[in-house]
Parts: sequence; structure tokens; C-alpha cells
Amino acid sequence: MDLESHILQLFINNKYVDCQNKKKVSVYNPATGGLVSDQIPVAGPDDVDAAIHAGQAAFAPGSEWRQMIASERQRLLLRFADVLEDNKERLASLTRLTLGAPYVPFGKSEIETAIGCFRYYAGWIDKFAGQSFPADDGVYKIVRNEPLGVVAGIIPWNGPLASVGLKAAPALAAGNVFILKPSEKTPLMAAELGKLVLEAGFPPGVFQVLTGDGSTGALLASHMGIAKVSFTGSVATGKAVQILAAKSNLKRCTLELGGKSPAVVFDDADLANAVRWCVNGLTNNSGQICFAASRVYVQEGIYDRFLQAYREAFEAKRRVIGDPEDVRFELGPVVDKAQYDRIMNIIESAEKEQQGTLVTGGRSFTSRGYYIEPAIFLDPKPDAFIYKEEIFGPVVVVNKFKTEAEVLERSNSSKYGLMAGVFTQDINRALRLSSAFDSGVVGVNCISTIHFSCPFGGTKESGLGRELGVNALLAYTEPKTVLINMNY
Ligand code: NAD
Repeated sequence: MDLESHILQLFINNKYVDCQNKKKVSVYNPATGGLVSDQIPVAGPDDVDAAIHAGQAAFAPGSEWRQMIASERQRLLLRFADVLEDNKERLASLTRLTLGAPYVPFGKSEIETAIGCFRYYAGWIDKFAGQSFPADDGVYKIVRNEPLGVVAGIIPWNGPLASVGLKAAPALAAGNVFILKPSEKTPLMAAELGKLVLEAGFPPGVFQVLTGDGSTGALLASHMGIAKVSFTGSVATGKAVQILAAKSNLKRCTLELGGKSPAVVFDDADLANAVRWCVNGLTNNSGQICFAASRVYVQEGIYDRFLQAYREAFEAKRRVIGDPEDVRFELGPVVDKAQYDRIMNIIESAEKEQQGTLVTGGRSFTSRGYYIEPAIFLDPKPDAFIYKEEIFGPVVVVNKFKTEAEVLERSNSSKYGLMAGVFTQDINRALRLSSAFDSGVVGVNCISTIHFSCPFGGTKESGLGRELGVNALLAYTEPKTVLINMNY
């Protein structure tokens, strides 16, 4: 397939340039299995150095970016949001080509998240004040929020556009300069962003894009010129990034990692609402979402009715699986052959080893492309792979429970703690559980959703630190205390 030449280049210092590293990766269309390009550049040491040098120049004292007054930085972020909006169909289509998720619902929600993040953080720019304390003891104290310098965002393939908003918007709002490293599976949209950076009018070196694979990510994570890495991806890579950060310059790390999010449905829940959130929270983007509602617990009194409606809704989803380019379809293929083989092997082993009972789905949908019917396993064994591990595909485990104490113990006994949901009409129970769940986010009568104003991230092995809200700005700044002695 012919891609415009700039898509096969790096975006450094406001210019599209050829990659100095000769290594390339290939990307495929998961709807057909066909090759999209075998020429995706993998930024190597010289390319990474060039971007970091440009970033350092952009961040140097007296530079255009450092001198820029708040209202102008605000206008830049708002302009970028507008440019994203003007180009949303193209960006979404470049993402879809190698991710496979149809525009509605997933592609649309992704680009809207990115646009929303830039507008939300633009609003913060002239309101992100530090602190001051009175000179009651003769010392006036000021705490300033200082930007860190050159920061990098290393992002996964499953939400590439939204991740740009979550990472670049607060980094730039706080006054840093930003290098984006997209996943090697979904690099096309990121490569296109350079054109939008130019159109919005960012100074050179402020917002750069380096495509590449894990080797490029590792170069950034271990580089002495990078002050912080905001990483989203798997637990294993997150740990590797933190080790590289510690072994180099102790750069700051925010880690948004995996999940196995429990949705707990009590007897008094609104059935239709619980079913709708639990189905969409698992099938959206074919289950390839970090906070997918992938462990469902249902109280015994509502269990049969819930299961029937949930299963019917899963089976109805089969009618909207299909070509992501066709607007009639809501669910596309999983991202690539490796992901397809991994998920199908997990399903096959789960059946063979009787890890749980497969009641619907789990089969390949067509002979072409990487489509999988959403699958429900009942009563998984507590030590089963499908019960404990993140599958990152359209596979859910459904469990029956009796008491609140029992379900709390079961839902918290996971190495993950990204999100939990409780479905009940009893406000006391909802508040009790939202405090008792060991997770970074809790939904009451909802799950698998986020809000710009509120921190997002996980406890335990789901990560470290938070994105969104003021928390992201704090994570992209270093507090600096200034003590003014007035006693002389
Ligand atoms: P991944 O860890 O394989 O890759 C993520 C990114 O890290 C990619 O850009 C990759 O090139 C890069 N990378 C790989 N090796 C690296 C290394 N040694 N050093 C630095 N960078 C390296 O993850 P993935 O398969 O792209 O994404 C799926 C995972 O991401 C799932 O586990 C999912 O739960 C998680 N995820 C979490 C969130 C969240 O916010 N918590 C959101 C989306 C995805």
C-alpha cells in the first residue's frame, strides 16, 4: 500500500526527516491480514539523540517556548485541539487501518478523548498555581511547579489517539517539551501528527514524534537527557522501563499498566443498566482495553436473569462484528495475528483444561482477518489462567457470589487494581465498596469509563502514578521551594 512519504519519516525539530537507523518494522491490516507497509522507521540512537538535542534547545532558558506567556501557550493547545478536530476522520482512519476498531464507538471516543484532553489542559495553564506561605517567622515561602524538561510518552497500540491526549496535553500544558513514541503496531496516526504540530504553530523541538519498536522505547527510558517517561503498556514492559529509568538518571516514571477489572452486580441492581455496562465494558475495542470489565461477579438472586440477558447481548454483538470500514459494524478484528493466536490459544487451553465452562463465543468469526466472537466462561477455577490473568481480548469470566464480604475478598485478590465497578441501588453499599475496593478507579452503576477531571491509574501491578486531572500536571512538574529570608 502507498503511504504518503511523511508517514514513513520521523518528526524532529518541526521537520519530517529520514530515519538514520536502517531497521524497519511492518504493519498489517487486521481486517484482512494484508501488509500495509514494511517500511515503518525504527528510531535508533542517533535519531533519539537528535530529537533530545532539539528538545533541549527548545527548553533552554530564553527559548521561545520558555518565554511564552501562559495565554499564548493556552492558545497553542486550543489550536492543536481544533486541528485535531478538523483532521479527526483522517487520524481515526490511519489508526483504524492497523488497529481494526470501527469508528463508532471506539475510534470516535478515542479522538474525542484526545481533543478533550487538549482543551481541558489548556484551561489549566493559567490556573495551575503553586503555593505560598506567610512570612510569620520572617521567611516568606513560595512553592513553584517547575516543568521537568524533555519528557517522553511511550504508548500502546490499543488506544493510540487517546494516549496522545492523556500524555502530551498535560506535559505541554505544564511547560515541558514532549517526544511521542507510538507502538510499532499503530504508528501511522502518530507520524501524521507532525503536520498538525506545524499547523498549530508549536515552536521547533516542542512536540516531536519518533516511531519505533521496543528498542526505541528503551533508548528513551535509559537516556540521560530525558527527565520523565510516561508509559502505558504491559506490566512486564512497565517494570523494564522503571529499571532503565532507575539505572540511568532516576528519571520520573508514570506507569499505566494492565488490569483485570471486576464488575460486581448485586441482587438489587438495575438489570438493564448492569448488563449494558458489563457488555460494552468488555466488547469495546474487542476487549483490548486496560480497564475492560473482564471479571464479572453476580449475586445469586439475580444470577440467572443477568446471565440470560448478558449472554443474549453477547450473541447480539456477533451481528455487529465485521469490516471496520463498514459503518454497519461496531466490533472489528483484534489487532494482529500475534494477538489473535494468543487469545485463541488461551481459549483453547481454557476449554481443554476445564478452567471454566465456555457458554458462548470464543470462535473465529471469518476465514479472513483476525475476528473473534466475544466469549463467556462461567465458574472459572480460582487458580485458572483465564480467571487471574489479563487476556486483553473479548473474553470474560462470570462468577456467582452470595455475600458482600465474599465478593470483596474475591475481587480484591488480584495482582491488578486498575478499576472496579459495583452495580446496586443501595447507596450505603456502593460507598462501602467504593472505599473497600483496592483499585485506582471505582464505578458505581458503571464501569470501564474515565473522566478528564479525575485521576486515572491503578494500584498494585496496574501501575504507578496517575494520569488526567491535576494529578497529571503534578506528575509533569517538580515542586521547587523558594525561601525568602526577610530578617535582615
Ligand atoms: P507493550 O508493553 O508491549 O508496549 C507498550 C509500548 O512500550 C510500545 O510503544 C512498545 O514499543 C514499548 N516498549 C516495548 N518494549 C520496551 C522497552 N523495553 N522499553 C521501553 N519501551 C518499550 O504493551 P502493548 O502490547 O502495546 O499494550 C497492551 C498492554 O497495555 C496491556 O497490558 C494493557 O492492559 C496495557 N494498557 C494499559 C492502559 C492503562 O492506562 N492502564 C491503557 C492501555 C493499555
